[in-house]
Amino acid sequence: METFLLVYVLLVGLIFGSFLNVLIYRIPLKLTVVKGRSFCPNCNHNLNWLDLFPVFSFLFLSGKCRYCRTPISPRYPFVELLNTLCYMGAYLVFGIHISTLVYCVVCSCLIVLSLIDLDEGLIPDRFHFIIGACGILMTVVTKDLPIVDRAIGLVAISIPMLLIAVLVGGMGMGDVKLLAVCGFLLGWKLILFAFLAASISAAIYAVIMMIKKAAHRKSEIPFGPFISLGVIVAAFFGNNIINAYLNILFSM
Ligand SMILES: [Zn+2]
Repeated sequence: METFLLVYVLLVGLIFGSFLNVLIYRIPLKLTVVKGRSFCPNCNHNLNWLDLFPVFSFLFLSGKCRYCRTPISPRYPFVELLNTLCYMGAYLVFGIHISTLVYCVVCSCLIVLSLIDLDEGLIPDRFHFIIGACGILMTVVTKDLPIVDRAIGLVAISIPMLLIAVLVGGMGMGDVKLLAVCGFLLGWKLILFAFLAASISAAIYAVIMMIKKAAHRKSEIPFGPFISLGVIVAAFFGNNIINAYLNILFSM
């Protein structure tokens, strides 16, 4: 039964991952995401189900369009695999619980908004609304976190970042709103953890880019993908890591 469910989650992750690629491509172009068949962006040839099977089509077609042989970005199978990993992670951490469903939705949103942020340098508002709604749903349905913890989470990082965005700049409003809704979802402890993880990973990335001379000190790095990474790590492992850290701290 356990294995059966895990395979089911894997398949759902792949199928939704494939749909996320459609969203990442179509939302910035303001194309409809529910109608219309998928097509090759180079030759415009309609794709059939053999071309659209998540990950496997990419492997069977050796990463090229079947019709025009243009290379397909490895980003497509990457998004599908990442989404699948998140869904399986949510199931393994939360089990058969409403939290699994909520965090699958949240992870998919974070993956899509991260790639749109990388491409366009902005985070569409609809993702803030969906993650906010997930936070409200969790407040109503589960009692795992006091509402005060969520309320503090809403403002703990977002308000200081709002001040920095207004007074200093360098931080987008999309990032501030993302920190607010994720803070409400996770509560103050985990959003602090997520923000720390996001800052550290962004700093490491910036140093690597500077060494490779791809980025100058002034060039802007989108922060959305790092916040997303931090939020996913915090949601799945945050409590365990914080508890382990406190144990070490108090046993000294
Ligand atoms: Zn093509």
